[in-house]
Amino acid sequence: MSINCYLLQPVGFCSGVARAVDMAKQVLKLCGNVYIIEDIVHNKVLMHDMYELGIVKVSSLEEIPDGSSVMFSAHGVAPDLFDRAEEKGLTIIDGTCPVVKAVQLAVKEQASSGKKIIIIGKRTHPEVIALKGYAGSANAFIVFDEGDCDLLPDFTGEDVLYLTQTTLDINHVERIIRKLKERIPHISRESQNNICYTTIDRQAAIRDIANVVDLVIVLGSSYSANAKVLEAVAIDSNVKKVTRIDSEQELDLSLFSDVSSFAIATASSTPKFVLDRLLDFLTQNMEIEIKDFEQKID
Ligand code: SF4
Repeated sequence: MSINCYLLQPVGFCSGVARAVDMAKQVLKLCGNVYIIEDIVHNKVLMHDMYELGIVKVSSLEEIPDGSSVMFSAHGVAPDLFDRAEEKGLTIIDGTCPVVKAVQLAVKEQASSGKKIIIIGKRTHPEVIALKGYAGSANAFIVFDEGDCDLLPDFTGEDVLYLTQTTLDINHVERIIRKLKERIPHISRESQNNICYTTIDRQAAIRDIANVVDLVIVLGSSYSANAKVLEAVAIDSNVKKVTRIDSEQELDLSLFSDVSSFAIATASSTPKFVLDRLLDFLTQNMEIEIKDFEQKID
């Protein structure tokens, strides 16, 4: 008997990742190489291919030879990195996703008018590090969980607002926003939940299908915030089995024992060809019937 396989939409790159990858490919075609400090998107398989095409990763701007090109990732970088790259005479390829760029500009504008900015996000994530740079360290406060909210200073008499990392779990962020509103009743109405459209859609697809599949496979890298959130959403939604893999090579086929239907969710940084390879591998090893998510809802 065949196993139902639901492909959760959307699949493939989000617009921000697609843009950054296209930019990198164009620069490589023109220049032969380009330097990066941070992976331009968080996907191991894709980055492996990009290194083969001529991307060179270094650990600091200082290691990049004068006159070279540097590309900044889709997550964005702090403004001081732009300044330092310009001072060094590097050609800058800005791969910052336009959705992230809009949040950066909002942070910059609000901080320059004297407001305190609470950034909801992971303090070690490049996107959050960059946002903190746009706010200026003295004006920025990073919170990830409710415990962090308790540690915030007293903002009495101060203008304060929150903004968010774009790739967090929407339910988690809504809990933190509720907590912030309790803790800081005068928090500005100009606050924004910046979780992006594709993040919301990918999480919603998992929550919608969680009760009818026995297994969710998240296709994405362990250092992709997006992929890790999809995995956490599947676990929180009580899916019986959840696995996150970079590619078909990591798939443990024993997971399919007692599975009559499963879903595949892709992170927004996962190339479509990685999904195609997984589907080929599955069809070679078992009898599956591939269905669209919409088919299941009907
Ligand atoms: S997940 Fe959203 S914010 Fe991040 S790169 Fe993609 S479109 Fe941009």
